[in-house]
Amino acid sequence: MSMLVLDDIKTYYGNIQALKGISLTVEPGECVTLIGSNGAGKSTTLRSISGLTPPRTGSILFEGQEIARMAPQDIVSLGISQSPEGRRCFPRMTVAENLDMGAYLRRDTDVEQDRDRVYELFPRLEERSKQKAGTMSGGEQQMLAIGRALMAKPKLLLLDEPSMGIAPILVERIYETIAEINKQGTTILLVEQNANFALGVSHRAYVLETGKVALSDESAKLRENPDVQKAYLGA
Ligand code: ATP
Repeated sequence: MSMLVLDDIKTYYGNIQALKGISLTVEPGECVTLIGSNGAGKSTTLRSISGLTPPRTGSILFEGQEIARMAPQDIVSLGISQSPEGRRCFPRMTVAENLDMGAYLRRDTDVEQDRDRVYELFPRLEERSKQKAGTMSGGEQQMLAIGRALMAKPKLLLLDEPSMGIAPILVERIYETIAEINKQGTTILLVEQNANFALGVSHRAYVLETGKVALSDESAKLRENPDVQKAYLGA
């Protein structure tokens, strides 16, 4: 059974239709990327899944269960967690406090062990554990946002533009860690405008254009596709 199945979802902001019938699947253990230009609907697809902007019509099955119009906190409880675009850490809380907030909805209590796992993935966060999040660099805050999403122990991790506004050297670091998180068993659905790194770590990808899926294939094949290179890889 697929972990996630989107079937013809249509999502609106008021009268503006952002998604015009998106269908896609994510298998257990996969890392899948959504690429597409500005406004194509990538973020809205993630927001539809996490319940922040529910689709008006269509179906979203997570492990066989319909989640399309469930409340966001119930969707988190099922095992889906999102690291939002633009980071959004709690600036006046410390790194450690931000991480603990990520575990807020969990019932089991081994928060410490999970914090250690996040520190293993992102040693920089351990060095800065007592520092206020708002005083850290953009790249460090991005690591923190991903770490906080991991604290919910998701089966499916949604990442919105993890490379946005980050120095190239740190982007590589973050992508290595994303690959490691996936290898350790977390399924990942990832959105990127800057597609090179994302296609490097993901198994498959979907190309979105104006609220629809224009193309989908194995990431390695999309990387070789001349149209994709021209439009999304800066070739
Ligand atoms: P970006 O990389 O710029 O975030 P995207 O592919 O993620 O692009 P979305 O943010 O999902 O695209 O936007 C899809 C469409 O929905 C766009 O036409 C956008 O203008 C519109 N849209 C997004 N957010 C809102 C909003 N809060 N109110 C109205 N329209 C919105």
